[in-house]
Amino acid sequence: MAASITAALAGLGAIRGDLADFYRDLHAHPELSDQEHRTSGEIARRATALGYTVTEGVGGTGVVAVLANGAGPTVMLRADIDALPIQETTGLPYASKNDGVMHACGHDMHATCLLGALKLLIDARSSWAGTILAVFQPAEETGRGAQEMIDDNLFERFGTPEIVLAQHTAPFPVGVVGGHAGTAAAATDALRIIMHGRGGHGSRPEATIDPVVMAAATVMRLQTIVSREIAADDAAVVTVGCLRAGTKDNIIPDEAELQLNIRTFTPQTREKVVASVHRIAKAEAAAAGAEWEPDISVIDTFPVMFNDPDAMARTLTAIGETLGPDKVFDPGRITGSEDAGNLATAAGVPLCYWMFGVLDPEVFGGGSDPVQLVHDMLSGTIDVKSVPGPHTSGYAPAVDPSITVGVTAMTTAALTWLGTA
Ligand SMILES: [Zn+2]
Ligand SMILES: [Zn+2]
Repeated sequence: MAASITAALAGLGAIRGDLADFYRDLHAHPELSDQEHRTSGEIARRATALGYTVTEGVGGTGVVAVLANGAGPTVMLRADIDALPIQETTGLPYASKNDGVMHACGHDMHATCLLGALKLLIDARSSWAGTILAVFQPAEETGRGAQEMIDDNLFERFGTPEIVLAQHTAPFPVGVVGGHAGTAAAATDALRIIMHGRGGHGSRPEATIDPVVMAAATVMRLQTIVSREIAADDAAVVTVGCLRAGTKDNIIPDEAELQLNIRTFTPQTREKVVASVHRIAKAEAAAAGAEWEPDISVIDTFPVMFNDPDAMARTLTAIGETLGPDKVFDPGRITGSEDAGNLATAAGVPLCYWMFGVLDPEVFGGGSDPVQLVHDMLSGTIDVKSVPGPHTSGYAPAVDPSITVGVTAMTTAALTWLGTA
């Protein structure tokens, strides 16, 4: 391990308690996408106190913290900061105080760990050279935040980095880090379909065009896209997560609404699946005798996330040297989506995005060794279906050990890409 990394990490013990307090405060005060006003204010206050040059309001509620420390590479360190519309059920003493809003994706942990890394990096600035460009990004959950910061001239105002480094909490046992080179996360297309019928009295269906039946038939036919149109060695997901129509049993409504979530890994499959959704929705409307074609609109969209293989190898090797090589593993590509890749794509530079486990090994019920647990998870020996993961109301990262791993990984990665003094 490089001496500068060892020296920087030596300061972690002294700041863990303070970081844990900060994490619990963020966790108790989650804010939805593009509304992260308190969150970004707290982050800006802390980064300023550390000695960074801080700009608030970048792309709405984004915060940029810069430390120029001599000639050398510019390295972007990115954390997302938004929460989700979920009612928390963890029962933790620091559970959300904002009704119906929860940090259920661990972005409070990402922000905390990046601030911890910024503290260690500024304290160790005599041992490295270059520029740290720390980005606290809003609205990851809607897929808009990275683009909002880019559109607010992020690179023109703060410089173009040579690499983008980002990390995410994961429902692995705390202590391990997972990273996958190449295509690492799926593209998402979230669509809304409004199917138009003609409403009327429930006792006289012959005088109506029933959008409920039309929508139900569409939901069923959509299931054949993945099962009948996608090759066995390809992959896609089509989920209808929302189906809404009507107000009362004896009223046939005028329209029905479907909301779909589509995940794909290649541009070709993406185009094909989206086209199939359009084809099926229109054809089912026609089959029902609808007088208007359905309206199909985009709710949100994420591109495929691509991790540069060489940059991943370099970063994960360094993290392995810090945490122990057996702690780093390849979880494979995930069907989750991320907009961190937009920052790297817009800058034309490589992305390194990894995940770190945050769950107490006890919740897996299979012993306390995180490496063995990951092995058992990947081989299917232990059943993880009952483990509360991200986007669930019970997602509860183990605070202190997770902070230690997240700060260690981010600090190590940053120093791997910054220059030597
Ligand atoms: Zn997330
Ligand atoms: Zn999320």
